[in-house]
Amino acid sequence: MDVLVIGAGAAGLTTAISLAEAGLSVTVRTAELPGQTTSVAAGAVWGAVKVGPPERALAWGRTGLEVLSKLAAEPGTGVRMAAGREISRAPFEPYYWMRLLPDLRPCEPSELPGGFSAGWFYTAPLVTMPVYLEYLRDRFERAGGSLEVSAVTSLTGLAGAAPVIVNCSGAAAFDLVPDPAVVPVRGQVVIAANPGIEEFLVNRDPEPPWIVYMFPHGSTILLGGTNEEGNWDREPRAEVADRIMTGCIAVEPRLRGAEILGHRVGLRPGRPEVRLEAEPLGDGVLWHNYGHGGAGISMSWGCAAEITQAVLG
Ligand SMILES: Cc1cc2nc3c(=O)[nH]c(=O)nc-3n(C[C@H](O)[C@H](O)[C@H](O)COP(=O)(O)OP(=O)(O)OC[C@H]3O[C@@H](n4cnc5c(N)ncnc54)[C@H](O)[C@@H]3O)c2cc1C
Repeated sequence: MDVLVIGAGAAGLTTAISLAEAGLSVTVRTAELPGQTTSVAAGAVWGAVKVGPPERALAWGRTGLEVLSKLAAEPGTGVRMAAGREISRAPFEPYYWMRLLPDLRPCEPSELPGGFSAGWFYTAPLVTMPVYLEYLRDRFERAGGSLEVSAVTSLTGLAGAAPVIVNCSGAAAFDLVPDPAVVPVRGQVVIAANPGIEEFLVNRDPEPPWIVYMFPHGSTILLGGTNEEGNWDREPRAEVADRIMTGCIAVEPRLRGAEILGHRVGLRPGRPEVRLEAEPLGDGVLWHNYGHGGAGISMSWGCAAEITQAVLG
């Protein structure tokens, strides 16, 4: 084994693929299968959430945009290019990296729901996470990688297991590293039958811990949501789901009466900045790749590429 990757969410699987496709022998070790991770709860659109450090995040985001845009052209990946809007009741500027999107433009007043005065329209990669995670796992195994389900209790205890170990444990890095800078940011979403909505919508009005958004995925639509800092609870709560439905129906009345098909909860790995760096471990190297907050799907290919270049170099 050349590399042992801890974690099978978006960060772990993209890192494992990148290393395996570069010719290295890679094993992923994970406490949970990909479909049980935080990653499966994501919306998931490229780019709408801020992370740092800014210069590195811009480069990671650019790579993520390129890779996901290419995957959108391939059947079976779970990725497509989708049009949508970010809206607000007050003027706002899009985050600076949104300028990477060629069709970004302010919304016309006629494109805004009642009560909203500002908005931005753009087209970006939109990812159906359960399909995408299965695609990533298959691609990793096609590249010769293997995945084993078992929890790691200590990173230092892994010294000698492989020359390179990559820690992609998401919010669990709080205990595993341990890293007190990691904060879980609980996100609960509702999966409903899609009444025919084709564009995504994100309400940028700050109302913590609530946020209103909707991401259509064919016959279903993912409705959000929450940003609950410091909350480790992974069980869906009925009163939160009710409030999500009320918030989404208020901006998109077609959702009234939509059948509820399921609930998902994820713990975004919040951190002041993404941690992407290496440290010595025994005779080998331990890479850390966690702390992507609400942007892990957007950043993962860029972070994976940086680790792969360093490992090969
Ligand atoms: C509701 C919601 C909406 C989101 N929307 C978006 C979006 O639109 N766009 C976007 O880019 N991002 C979005 N995100 C953020 C994104 O989902 C996260 O940044 C990303 O999933 C983090 O991926 P990860 O692989 O680091 O962590 P995770 O998906 O949590 O994976 C961690 C992995 O580590 C494993 N692990 C943990 N501890 C151990 C251990 N001790 N031993 C072995 N394995 C271990 C776990 O089992 C798991 O496999 C959203 C998140 C949520 C919750």
